[in-house]
Amino acid sequence: MAATSEGSGMKFTRRDLLVWSAGAAAGLVVSPVPWKILDDVSIWSQNWPWIPQPARGPVDVKQSFCTLCPNGCGLRVRMAGGWPVGVAGVGSHPISRGALCPLGFAAHQLNWHPRRLRVVQHHGQPSSWSEAQAAFAKARGEGPIVIIDGYPGRAASSVLKTFAEKQGGTYRVVTSSESRALAPYEAWIDAPSSSLGYDLENAQTVVSFGAPLLDGWGTPGRFTRLWAEKSAGMADPQLRLIQIDSSLSRTAARAWQRVQIREGSESALASGLARVLIEQKPVPAHGPIPALSLTEAATQTGLSPDAIRDLARTLVSHLPVLAIARDDNPAIAALNVVLGAVGARGGIVRRSTNNESYVSTDAGIPSARAVVIDGSVPWNFVPQTDTEIFRFAAWDGGAMKADWLLPAPGFLEELTDVPTAPTSSVETYAVATNLVKAPTEFMSAAQFLSVADSTLTPVDKIIHSRCEDLFRKHSGTLYGQDATPVARIASVQKLEEQFSKGAVWVREASPPGNLHCELKEWPAAPPESRGGSWATEWPIGVMPPLATKLYIESNLREAPERRNA
Ligand code: SF4
Repeated sequence: MAATSEGSGMKFTRRDLLVWSAGAAAGLVVSPVPWKILDDVSIWSQNWPWIPQPARGPVDVKQSFCTLCPNGCGLRVRMAGGWPVGVAGVGSHPISRGALCPLGFAAHQLNWHPRRLRVVQHHGQPSSWSEAQAAFAKARGEGPIVIIDGYPGRAASSVLKTFAEKQGGTYRVVTSSESRALAPYEAWIDAPSSSLGYDLENAQTVVSFGAPLLDGWGTPGRFTRLWAEKSAGMADPQLRLIQIDSSLSRTAARAWQRVQIREGSESALASGLARVLIEQKPVPAHGPIPALSLTEAATQTGLSPDAIRDLARTLVSHLPVLAIARDDNPAIAALNVVLGAVGARGGIVRRSTNNESYVSTDAGIPSARAVVIDGSVPWNFVPQTDTEIFRFAAWDGGAMKADWLLPAPGFLEELTDVPTAPTSSVETYAVATNLVKAPTEFMSAAQFLSVADSTLTPVDKIIHSRCEDLFRKHSGTLYGQDATPVARIASVQKLEEQFSKGAVWVREASPPGNLHCELKEWPAAPPESRGGSWATEWPIGVMPPLATKLYIESNLREAPERRNA
């Protein structure tokens, strides 16, 4: 039966709701996976002999956060006899707003997955934690250690970083494509890219260069909700999405306008648009003129010079406008500078005064005696080194080059804090409590390093001091059952109590214009766009059965005739 959203006159069905809530990050299952594999997974999943019987016991609902990727979506977890048996989004979460990706919806199944890692392995053979600790002690006695983190900013990250620094080693991060897309600004502004975000809520035109905004980009629910509220089904929407793509992606199919260009010509189009804006000045546009002529941009993109001129006029006809790249493409970042979108309302904003900058593994991994890879690092990250590797992971996602494979805590088995999501325009903080006690055979990288160096401050103490800090500053609002300004919270204990119940702290948005940006030369084109994201790289072999089912039974699946249309 079709449901109609009251007041808006807009119609959507139950099927639409599923796509709306689950589809935002559905890129993780709409990657080009052969159908045969999906079928096999479905058949296989129906016959699991090891499927646990649902626990008998009191049924309870708790709030927490999904930490399977750095988006940290709010979760409502149905617990039976102390075990999670169902997961839903939290509508009051200020960023994820009730949405989850299919992986999040099915995450409670992950801890029983057949590819769950349960024993320490050394060169593929069963080993033990004490042997791994002995090997690590030997390695750190012989030379520096490189530590790689896939979810920077957590209390656990602080343990990893401190260990590396104390030991004279190196801390590196593997970043998502959304974070990489903000990296080019670092060369032109006075702030690290980790303090930047997209002010989508105040943008009126968003031009996406291949970023899957309606299909797996950023925190699911944020852009899709905005789209549903301000645009879907409207001929003249309040929020215009222009999708530049070389094929008819799901986002392109639903966008207000779609522009098809040749694959890999995004930089050329950004240069052509910037040239038109600077030369013809339909709005005050400043910046260095790109070396590429309009004719060259047209040849490379497959568009005519007139089409590029028209597109430039469309972009600035409904301001503020914001360009979003799929990856670290500096020409698209430079287009934002020309559009005046950097440090402006509805553009790229500075969300925090955090000055911590991270060095990405893209900069290379220095030579070391050993490399420690945290469980937050995607499986497809393979360090280009032949040194000894200690790799933590909760599941075996394949392609994991490691001398030591170390079983890490799984879904909701570990106390962790939840720093701001990569694309958010406001700073947030939350704490995901371990709703399930991890069995003793699991250990996180932070715990492992704390065993190796007992002077490191443990994760729970770092979280406590971060809460004390928030309480002392008396700024921001805590979103739990109600929205409460931190200034009205009586004590740090009360604040921590709220956090343990799933509240989210949100700092007031910084005023626009707090960024100084100076672009002197038009940047050179990047070697190649890498696209993808942490969540989209979740391999099908470790997909929980419910996520596969969500995919097959919804219309998240791209119709074959649309692919590469
Ligand atoms: S987007 Fe990331 S944090 Fe959100 S539900 Fe999916 S895996 Fe979890």
